[in-house]
Amino acid sequence: MAVVGLGPAGRALAHRLLQAGAEVLVIDPCPERVWRQTLSGWRHQLPGWLDDQVVASTARPVLRTRGTQEIDDPYLVLDNTALHTRLSLAGARVEETRVGPDGFAALTSRAHWVIDARGATPAGRRRRVPMQTAHGVVVPTRAAAGVLAGAEAVLMDWTPFDGSSRWQEPASFLYAVEVAPGRELLEETCLAGEPPLPPAELQRRLHRRLQRYGVPPDAIEGPGATIERVRIPMLPSAADPLPDRVIRFGAAGGQLNPITGYSALASLRDTDTWVNALTRGDPGRLPQRPDPLARTALGAFLQLSPAATVELFDAFARLPTEQQRVVFDGRGAGFPAALFAQWQAMPPAGRLALIAATARSLLTAR
Ligand SMILES: Cc1cc2nc3c(=O)[nH]c(=O)nc-3n(C[C@H](O)[C@H](O)[C@H](O)COP(=O)(O)OP(=O)(O)OC[C@H]3O[C@@H](n4cnc5c(N)ncnc54)[C@H](O)[C@@H]3O)c2cc1C
Repeated sequence: MAVVGLGPAGRALAHRLLQAGAEVLVIDPCPERVWRQTLSGWRHQLPGWLDDQVVASTARPVLRTRGTQEIDDPYLVLDNTALHTRLSLAGARVEETRVGPDGFAALTSRAHWVIDARGATPAGRRRRVPMQTAHGVVVPTRAAAGVLAGAEAVLMDWTPFDGSSRWQEPASFLYAVEVAPGRELLEETCLAGEPPLPPAELQRRLHRRLQRYGVPPDAIEGPGATIERVRIPMLPSAADPLPDRVIRFGAAGGQLNPITGYSALASLRDTDTWVNALTRGDPGRLPQRPDPLARTALGAFLQLSPAATVELFDAFARLPTEQQRVVFDGRGAGFPAALFAQWQAMPPAGRLALIAATARSLLTAR
């Protein structure tokens, strides 16, 4: 098996293939680079073969819309160093290089299956896709007391950043999670934009919001402040045809949820299903692109007004946990029903806005 790309998805797959006894070749320009981005997701997605050592923090988050609602499902932040170490590649053959445009065809003569785990935007294939952007700062947890207001974490705070009653165009939300003991990441996030909200605007909103919440300015801008800038493609790159016996995994493929932009925990969760299919020799049936309905939902989201956006997440917070999980998975048998339930939970004006946004998105779909 040849795994191209050693982000969390490729490394997890290569590790589990090795444990299953496969002969594995891994290729990445920086094979031992530890991921720097914050990787978080839902606890229930963490597979049984990974234990708490790879978890930096777990919390039951709140979602703030018109009021504050608790999400009754544990949310976690991964400890990247621990995860990287845990996903040992001992026994793999490692090539420190970048696979070029014709490289996949060549690899099929060296490996029985080739896995494209190059992430959502492999270099050289950038095209315009909706992006998630965010600007964050890591502060001591005590400095974030006003943001948390007693909550363990904040999944989304959709209240306007400047305290006004009108939403900005487009709206952004604050995300707050513990990334290490006593350290809180506070991030102003544009869930999806085409074009996305620029980093400078998100930084301005973050500072204004944190000022309102009473976060001391030196915690935000002092010399020790750690900044995180986020740019996540909400869709994988164009689906160029790949040669036979090459399949996609991770953010390059079907693990990327176009509703959230996230894929890391879904990749870890799906790893063993892929290992089993690869070792059986029938991985072709596994989904290698995001669910079309999730793409449609992203298209509709991009057309929504800020007020309807908030109604959408207010409705999400009131769904039963099982349906919230399905929405965050972005696929599966219950996915259409969960989206329908979310739509039904919106007030009449929000429902109409979502129908109109979906229609506009379908009419303008490229
Ligand atoms: C600041 C930030 C915060 C984020 N927070 C979250 C989060 O909380 N939760 C979440 O799920 N996601 C988050 N994301 C998105 C996250 O980065 C992806 O979900 C995750 O890294 C995807 O993993 P992957 O292994 O599929 O791809 P990637 O992590 O993109 O890894 C791809 C690998 O392929 C290699 N590669 C690329 N091209 C080639 C080539 N031609 N030949 C060989 N190797 C190649 C790259 O070097 C890289 O190592 C965040 C992103 C950023 C930037």
